Amino acid sequence: MKKTPMLQQYLELKQQHSDALLLYRLGDFYELFFEDAEKAAPVLGVVLTRRRHNEEVESPMCGVPHHALTSYVGKLLEAGFKVAIAEQVEEPQGQRLVRREVVRVLTPSTVTEPELLPGGEKRLLVALAGKGPFAVAVADAAAGELSGLAAATSEEVRELLAQLQPKEVLVPEEAFELSGLWPPELPNPVVTRRSKAWFQASRGEERLKEAFGVGSVRALGLEPEEELLGPLGALLSYLEETQGRLPEHFVTFTRLGMGQGLVLDAATVRNLEILRDTSGGKKACLATVLDHTCTPMGARLLREWLVRPASAAEAERRLDAVAELCDNLEVLHNLRQHLPRVGDLERAAARLGFSQARPAELVGLRQALPTVPLIRELLASAESELLLEIGQRMDPLADVAEDLQRTLAANPPAVLGPGTIASGVDPELDAARRLAHGAKEVLSELEARERERTGISSLKIRYNSFFGYAFEVSKANLDKVPGHWVRRQTLTQAERFVTEELSQLEEQILTAEKRAEERERELFAALLRRLAAQAKRVAATARLLATVDVLASFAQRAREQRYCRPKLVEAPVLRLEVSRHPVVEAISSEAFVPNDVHLEAGERQILILTGPNMGGKSTFLRQVALAVLMARAGSFVAADAAEIGPFDRIFTRVGAADDIARGESTFMVEMSEVAHILRHATSRSLVVLDEVGRGTATYDGLSLAWAVVEHLHNAPGGGPLVLFATHYHELTELAESLPRVFNASMAVKEWQGKVFFLHRVVPGPADRSYGIHVARLAGVPEAVCRRADEILAEISEANGKVPHSPAAEPRQLTLFASDYQWLAERLRQLDVNKLTPLEALNLLAELKKEV
Ligand code: ADP
Repeated sequence: MKKTPMLQQYLELKQQHSDALLLYRLGDFYELFFEDAEKAAPVLGVVLTRRRHNEEVESPMCGVPHHALTSYVGKLLEAGFKVAIAEQVEEPQGQRLVRREVVRVLTPSTVTEPELLPGGEKRLLVALAGKGPFAVAVADAAAGELSGLAAATSEEVRELLAQLQPKEVLVPEEAFELSGLWPPELPNPVVTRRSKAWFQASRGEERLKEAFGVGSVRALGLEPEEELLGPLGALLSYLEETQGRLPEHFVTFTRLGMGQGLVLDAATVRNLEILRDTSGGKKACLATVLDHTCTPMGARLLREWLVRPASAAEAERRLDAVAELCDNLEVLHNLRQHLPRVGDLERAAARLGFSQARPAELVGLRQALPTVPLIRELLASAESELLLEIGQRMDPLADVAEDLQRTLAANPPAVLGPGTIASGVDPELDAARRLAHGAKEVLSELEARERERTGISSLKIRYNSFFGYAFEVSKANLDKVPGHWVRRQTLTQAERFVTEELSQLEEQILTAEKRAEERERELFAALLRRLAAQAKRVAATARLLATVDVLASFAQRAREQRYCRPKLVEAPVLRLEVSRHPVVEAISSEAFVPNDVHLEAGERQILILTGPNMGGKSTFLRQVALAVLMARAGSFVAADAAEIGPFDRIFTRVGAADDIARGESTFMVEMSEVAHILRHATSRSLVVLDEVGRGTATYDGLSLAWAVVEHLHNAPGGGPLVLFATHYHELTELAESLPRVFNASMAVKEWQGKVFFLHRVVPGPADRSYGIHVARLAGVPEAVCRRADEILAEISEANGKVPHSPAAEPRQLTLFASDYQWLAERLRQLDVNKLTPLEALNLLAELKKEV
């Protein structure tokens, strides 16, 4: 293809950034060409046009105006694209092609621009390496956090990815197979491949030492040469590639999967509606209801704590702090007064760490920093260990505040430009400014003088960036213009002239201004360098402030909702009194009916909960699990008293409805989740099962549910504590044969022919006929309901007791047996192995016609 110089330049830049959309600066626009244009136009909502590059080459094209770049880039990142920005890096001169360079690569997980980052959301970057076991490294660039998991199985990797929901995944170029690792739960993140060399442990070690400023990776809790160093280094290299420099605000490295935390798998986070409710909204979820934080970084940390609850010991430390704040209203109040003023210090630290902060952001930081010592002061007299420690570790950052105060002008422009640096900082800048300013004074003197001399009372000196300074004379006064004035420009109503004196002054002003501008740029760069060197301290303090924010938020919520401090005990027990569902209680217009629960290894290991639909089973199950996770996050819980054992994991399987939307077989999903639970639950786990088995035919489902309960009951070493809600009434009989199973049900009351759900949990199995009562209530004709009563009686009689061993044959429903005898016969005769898929389909259609 024939290439014009511009096309040549475009293609070269594109080749260097083939996995990104290239936004190519052309005058006032950023243009996209070829495939990039086709991909981007619908996302950007702009028209796709065509550009003729020369007589041979024509390409699709679309563009966005340069001043609106940020919002358009935001859309592209949101859609999962990477974006490379090619700027003109020299002033246009005549016909020559302007030099262009990619000055910035923005990717969904590495942006730090405040306007491109939603406040409450984390954008994580993950790097993977190894062939199983795998090494997984995680970076939160905007928060300056690096973490990693060594020697992970593919299942652990899948689980971690589902939990973290990274926006980008970095893998080695050669032969890294993702298929075994790809979790079904992850919306397609950007996958970036980089050369294998990036992932070498030795190279990673060097990168880490450089980024963290340490002499040995042991200082970070890493071992020299360990495999995890590889992907960690790759993350840092990628940040360097996209940001133009290694980050300077990373403070620590955290090893994942080592703590004694309470593990929630992805299904549990979803089922318990921690970050989102089942409809995908954020209003009716735990995080929203609990969140009384004052800063965006606090809001993010609160969510992190909720989905990754801590060890019992750490939770206890947090609870001490929350209890203290609950009792000390004055401190709580003052903290909450001060905290909003520190804003998103965490992200500010990231902007410092990448030397990308703009003057407006520094103004924000300058306003925020004086609050830090005030908060520190408030914590100095704290009694709880955690608050005291935070206070002691909090860096007042006085020097940083002072530097900003001294260096930055009182009202700088939002982006770097004249007037960013304060006066009195640099003699050279001050001198240049004085010169420019002085010349301007001379200018107005000259104006006055010439006005008098020429007698043109409307005479004015005007400035225009192309023609420079000039005397402006209205058309009516042109005859008064002295002969030695030189015409520069003609306007409709006036003409502009220059004189020797004016040109000299202009020269002086412009040189001085240019000098001042240059000097300001240098001084600002130096300020950014100084701040980058302190970014770690800012980041560490931001983290401490976020922690205080969450603790204060927990305390505030606990007071408002009369939550109680949970007792974290060693024994495997779970006892709640007057427990409520924190979300339903907060958002429902009806009074919430509190309930008690008592599970304990031994006699009360497995609770079978029955009751009609809408009786409140799901709500009860969830509220119990939420109490456990809130306690371990360090929050008080929605109850009057709580005693909570040392749980290691919470497993849930709740409802099947939402899975249909995911397009997988509901039952398959259900069973894979159950399989996961059965394989991983320990005697320290809490298992919450809601309607397990519902996704299949009645007797299949019942048998499976039955077997699941037996398995959990008979697990060697004592099984987990289990809450099992079911509409399989037969399961209540398990309590008779299995000693550690007990029944409870949702109380229902009938009054004047109507059924009321009391939402109260009472001992013993439910009366099984309430379903028919509910049908009556709903207006199902009386004849049908009466017939249903008869059928129910018939079934109960015919079946008697259900089997006590899962090996026993599930019985046929006698009622229907005679009607479908022929069908059973045909199916029995069928040799499924000899059927082609088409024959099977035809047969199905035929049978369906006859049924
Ligand atoms: P089930 O799982 O038995 O079908 P749900 O838990 O879905 O029932 O609850 C049905 C309705 O009753 C929901 O709208 C819920 O908000 C309300 N509800 C449940 N438990 C309570 C309670 N303890 N107090 C007040 N309302 C409740």
